[in-house]
Amino acid sequence: MDFEFTEEEQAFREEVEKFALSEMPPEVEERTYLWPGGYGTLPIFEKEFEEFCRNFLLKLGKRGWLSLGWPERYGGVNSIIKQTIVDDVLSYHRAPFGSAATFIVAPTLIRFGSDEMKDKWMPGIISGTTSFWLGYSEPDVGSDLSSVKTTAVKDGNEYVINGQKIWSSGAHVTDCCWLLAKTDDTSKHKGMSLFIVDNNTPGITIRPITNIAGVDSFNEVFFDDVRVPEKNLVGEENKGFYYVMSALEHERIKIGFGTFRRILDELTQYVKEKKKTSGNTREYEEARNIVASMAIEVEILKGFFWRTVWMMDNGFPINVEASALKLFCSELGVSLSNAAVDILGLYGQLDKGSKWTQFGGRAGIGYLDSISGPIGAGSSEIQRVLIATSGLGLPRR
Ligand SMILES: Cc1cc2nc3c(=O)[nH]c(=O)nc-3n(C[C@H](O)[C@H](O)[C@H](O)COP(=O)(O)OP(=O)(O)OC[C@H]3O[C@@H](n4cnc5c(N)ncnc54)[C@H](O)[C@@H]3O)c2cc1C
Repeated sequence: MDFEFTEEEQAFREEVEKFALSEMPPEVEERTYLWPGGYGTLPIFEKEFEEFCRNFLLKLGKRGWLSLGWPERYGGVNSIIKQTIVDDVLSYHRAPFGSAATFIVAPTLIRFGSDEMKDKWMPGIISGTTSFWLGYSEPDVGSDLSSVKTTAVKDGNEYVINGQKIWSSGAHVTDCCWLLAKTDDTSKHKGMSLFIVDNNTPGITIRPITNIAGVDSFNEVFFDDVRVPEKNLVGEENKGFYYVMSALEHERIKIGFGTFRRILDELTQYVKEKKKTSGNTREYEEARNIVASMAIEVEILKGFFWRTVWMMDNGFPINVEASALKLFCSELGVSLSNAAVDILGLYGQLDKGSKWTQFGGRAGIGYLDSISGPIGAGSSEIQRVLIATSGLGLPRR
């Protein structure tokens, strides 16, 4: 059993750390929220950081750091471990470390896309110039994606798309939609296909929705007779559901482990400072014990997380692990936010802008955002169903 990075991986980690320290301005690092396990506080959603984030991703692309996990042909070195080192270090600094384009679109295209499709879309993803949003959920469809109602009807060498998507994170700040639509009404799972749709195609209306934390992170998106060339169909027609399920594994390991380490470090530091300035021993002891409990949880996540990454890197299936990891880390995001507001007391509710704000306003915003973690990318209930059935072999009913 070896719990260490190799020397090469360790040296790479240091290189990424150096890059983060030189490229992530301290004021941006301090002003962004990025709550662990949450989906609504990515810096790219904040207007003032949009431009910065786009440029930052281009820098990662230039270094080949968006594609490390992929084969050489797609700009990579086949190392999921190195890719995850980048994610870990950058997320500690609350920096962007990829998007749906790198987490989901690229791994699916590499596995299932035609050569023509890869040639068209991969260069933009590898370089960080093309970004995507995920068009899966609809007003009445979330957990059960096989019930998607948006249709794609073949007309000559085009598909005509009609329907509505919702909770579409980042649709307003990205370039293209990774769209799940119905292509065969007579079938459920086997009647769905995936498409790439440029946001600028006529007939698309994107309306931002402000989330509970006050950030415009997701949208409702309407498709009215949107014409998409047939070459934008991903893989084979009616295999979309299967592609989406296989890509979810990639999404569920992109947890930004560094954000967990960061909040724990910051809470620990806060309690240390508080000890110096406040004479209240009972309050201090309570806060100290909360941080100790959180430290255990983050350590458990660390072991579980890197083991899963290692498994993926070595070609083992990780469907059950990915579900368990997603479940554990999103619920830990909630526990950490509870810990933060408990420790900060009433100050924890204050956002930036008040002279009494503590902790960069992250505790209150994190408390609100963290509830999105156990819902997005498959709810905790759905993960439990998957772990029980696929992992433990229990019957569904
Ligand atoms: C912050 C955020 C960002 C999101 N971003 C995106 C995005 O970019 N693109 C996108 O397509 N979607 C996105 N979503 C949508 C997300 O994927 C869905 O909200 C999620 O899958 C749940 O679907 P639903 O909201 O329709 O709830 P439902 O599916 O209606 O579920 C309602 C409740 O019933 C439970 N439930 C449902 N089925 C079962 C079952 N079989 N067994 C046990 N319990 C069950 C669920 O766990 C939940 O508690 C986002 C959601 C959030 C919160």
